[in-house]
Amino acid sequence: MSGIQLQAVSKVYPNGFQAIHNVDLQIHDGEFMVFVGPSGCAKSTLLRMIAGLEDITHGHIAIGEQCVNDLLPKERGVAMVFQNYALYPHMTIYKNMAFSLLGKMSKEEIDIRVREAAHKLEIETLLDKKPGQLSGGQCQRVAVGRAIVRKPDVFLFDEPLSNLDAKLRVSMRVRLTELHRQLRHEGVSATMVYVTHDQIEAMTMGDRICVLNGGRIMQVDTPGNIYHHP
Ligand code: ADP
Ligand code: ADP
Repeated sequence: MSGIQLQAVSKVYPNGFQAIHNVDLQIHDGEFMVFVGPSGCAKSTLLRMIAGLEDITHGHIAIGEQCVNDLLPKERGVAMVFQNYALYPHMTIYKNMAFSLLGKMSKEEIDIRVREAAHKLEIETLLDKKPGQLSGGQCQRVAVGRAIVRKPDVFLFDEPLSNLDAKLRVSMRVRLTELHRQLRHEGVSATMVYVTHDQIEAMTMGDRICVLNGGRIMQVDTPGNIYHHP
């Protein structure tokens, strides 16, 4: 079980700015939840708090049954995909994908995981290349592949498609939605939290959408209920 529970969560940055005001939210196990809202509404802050990249000023965040307030990012069972891909430029794609697993399992097991993920994302032919030789869309697929190999309970996406051109964004939307479905089908929990300012992404990808504004939750509901105007 890897639902995420936010209880009375607030964030005050060191400069005194309160970015998040007393947020309560329950993200279900296996759900694809989208955080949507205008730039500066604190989508990214909230995601980074779940990831463990920002301290929680007040309140509690639990993943599964466990309060993660005091856990390091790597102890939380989450994998994050960033807008700028954050690949290691000097490593091959294979090594980029294998890196987080080194020392945790045998080379054979790592190899199986890397190839499985590469197959899912159709990047098998890129494994010996370096990030600098890849297009933006290819880099983003590698970034997703690098998250998958870890078999995390929770995937966190921070505007992962914003740097791609319009056509690629459409195909990646479909690919990510399909990936979620496929992982669920394989029995992986695959709770996904996806941050975007793009309403079309929110509408087409989310099981539910959490609309944020000014560090507060405005609405949490299915795309149909949020965007349907009879
Ligand atoms: P979004 O992802 O919705 O664009 P952010 O989470 O990046 O929003 O930022 C939310 C608010 O917090 C913004 O007003 C931003 O300026 C502010 N903020 C973000 N990071 C910091 C920081 N390190 N110190 C102070 N304020 C910050
Ligand atoms: P290092 O710089 O530590 O030598 P490498 O990038 O050469 O690391 O590779 C790390 C591990 O991954 C090695 O065991 C290597 O054999 C394996 N490896 C690297 N690229 C591939 C690939 N395309 N296919 C299979 N195994 C690979």
